Amino acid sequence: MLKLYNTLTRKKEDFEPILKRQAGIYTCGPTVYNYAHIGNLRTYIFEDLLKRVLLYDGFNVKHVMNITDVGHLQGDTDEGEDKVEMSARKEKKSAWDIARAYEEAFKNDLVLLNIQEPDIWCRATEHIKEQIELIKKLEEKGYTYKIENDGIYFDTSKLKDYGKLAKLKKQNLKAGARIAFASGKRNITDFALWKFSPEDSKRQMEWPSPWGIGFPGWHVECSAMSMKYLGETFDIHCGGIDHIPVHHANEIAQSEVATGKPFVNYWLHGNFLVLNKGKMAKSSGAFLKLQSLLEKGYEPLSYRYFCLTAHYRNELVFSWENLDAANAAFKNLKNKIREIKSNLCGSARSSHVQEYKQQFIEAINEDLDIPKALVIFWKALKDNELSNTEKYGLIIDFDKIFGLGLDSIKEEEVIINEELKELIAEREKSRKDKKWKKADEIRDKIKKLGFIVEDSEDGPKLKRFSQDSLI
Ligand code: AMP
Ligand code: ZN
Repeated sequence: MLKLYNTLTRKKEDFEPILKRQAGIYTCGPTVYNYAHIGNLRTYIFEDLLKRVLLYDGFNVKHVMNITDVGHLQGDTDEGEDKVEMSARKEKKSAWDIARAYEEAFKNDLVLLNIQEPDIWCRATEHIKEQIELIKKLEEKGYTYKIENDGIYFDTSKLKDYGKLAKLKKQNLKAGARIAFASGKRNITDFALWKFSPEDSKRQMEWPSPWGIGFPGWHVECSAMSMKYLGETFDIHCGGIDHIPVHHANEIAQSEVATGKPFVNYWLHGNFLVLNKGKMAKSSGAFLKLQSLLEKGYEPLSYRYFCLTAHYRNELVFSWENLDAANAAFKNLKNKIREIKSNLCGSARSSHVQEYKQQFIEAINEDLDIPKALVIFWKALKDNELSNTEKYGLIIDFDKIFGLGLDSIKEEEVIINEELKELIAEREKSRKDKKWKKADEIRDKIKKLGFIVEDSEDGPKLKRFSQDSLI
């Protein structure tokens, strides 16, 4: 039985879907005004693991992810410029071009990290009608008010259980609380449903509405689109922990008022990737993206491996040393698998293999304990009681969860450095000149570096010298 930690109840609960063997998941997608940073990507990896566990358990998963291409303002509290329009101004491009370019970059990151695509992508700019309909419902029920020259707001004080997800204290939310907030707001937690375009300038992204020309607020897009594709009450909603107090609190408020039904049964939140206890923020500009890691010579899946080493509800501290450690472990894993694959002898011979599988299933179903699953995996690979054939069976099976591409590891992964390159070229020349003795000497030098050269029709190929040196 799959157990998941539900932020709403602060408990691990058995996952019971609305429809038998079906799971509807909505994951808040990127705001496409810049590249995703590796912190954002950690959250998408966690969500991918959740989806893989559900699939492994035999659920039919319907996964929806939005693209926030309008309406996310600089501050989460409805102030500041629209992030996409701001980026367009800075990069001297149209807001539409900015949004599409960063959406594409994000999708490329997902591919590199072996994150399975959602079944449905939805852009905020393509669901304006649905968002307006939702706001109209809230207006009919008397939960909205207008701030002149600003927008239509949701009145959070009208809702008994506003902020239940974050366990916000009601007394702190009342109008007149000492904390400063946007002029005209009745309560600090009230939020914009529809923002008016400024009177003195034209926005690039704007639409007519019953309240005036403008654009939807950020929170309303997620409610409108998730309910459109998954129904008024659906199974699982995810995001990073920063979304608990504002974005998700607001999604719950407006959705439950609009429909009179519970919005989501299980709320799952991924903890942050932090830099030496500091925050990694897209808006600060100083952040690491996946490309930054690739430029330093890391493979994208080494970053995925790094993320697998921490439970999703724990903070993960990023440092180059920590990434290096994960990178080395991942390399060892691949070498170990190569070794196993090169010698697939032995038939099924122990009941051990079932025990490992059982332990693995228990770990992943215990609120996605992937770090534990990884330990079990390593233990199985090192267990002399298991035949290589059995081990290979586990590798293929467990990688359905890990998503490390372990089923397609190539025979050799030789990184040819400058020294090796020169030696190979020198040897080729010697061979052409029929200087066989010199060619053999160079072959020996290459061997000392841990490689053997094999001559093939396509030219020389390098292989690791001995299996033992791999581990
Ligand atoms: P955004 O594109 O800013 O809307 O964020 C995309 C996702 O990344 C959201 O689910 C955020 O909660 C999450 N997120 C933001 N910063 C971090 C971080 N440092 N570590 C992990 N997840 C994060
Ligand atoms: Zn969202």
